[in-house]
Amino acid sequence: MSGARAAVTAAKEAQTQALTRRKKLELDVEEWKSRAKKYREQSSSVKTNEAYKALLHEIANAEAEVSKAEDLVLEQMMALEDAERRVKHLEADLREAEQAIAAEKKQMQVQYGEKKKRMDAATAERGEIAKKVPEELLELYTRIDKKHPGSALAEARGEQCRACGVRVLPHVLQLLKSETDEEVFRCETCGRILYSLEPIPHATPKETANGAANS
Ligand SMILES: [Zn+2]
Repeated sequence: MSGARAAVTAAKEAQTQALTRRKKLELDVEEWKSRAKKYREQSSSVKTNEAYKALLHEIANAEAEVSKAEDLVLEQMMALEDAERRVKHLEADLREAEQAIAAEKKQMQVQYGEKKKRMDAATAERGEIAKKVPEELLELYTRIDKKHPGSALAEARGEQCRACGVRVLPHVLQLLKSETDEEVFRCETCGRILYSLEPIPHATPKETANGAANS
């Protein structure tokens, strides 16, 4: 991007230099033309044949210089056109790069907006859920979440805490599976709050804890 911008600047500079050279060469043409004109005017007033011949020579010389300078002007005009084309080409490249970046930026803003919306919704949902959680339990959760961000809870399955892998005592497992027990159990090793998704014995399928697995 900054490279494309620098290229445009350099090309514009080259264009300005080409224009300056063309103007200078045009002045050369004018100067040799006026010299030739001056010699022709003098030729009517010369006295000797020698002087006349010398003047004719000067006139021819000046006209040759005019022709040479005119050729150079033509060459310089073509160089100038090249420089102008180059500027236009590079400016188009720059515009294209700017548009691509603008499009990318817009896309990022859209994505940001969508993610922000999802996050706001999730935050609101969390707030609603947190209201229903007893204050002490919420404090405990917050404390563990600081230590284990995003995994303050751990499933107890296969007689293990699935977060740290250490064994969970059978009587704890039994209590976790019981619908009626409101007590909070924590893993003795990692300190996470344990929960169980295993079917509660004698419960009807509707009442199993599976429905809460994703919440
Ligand atoms: Zn654990």
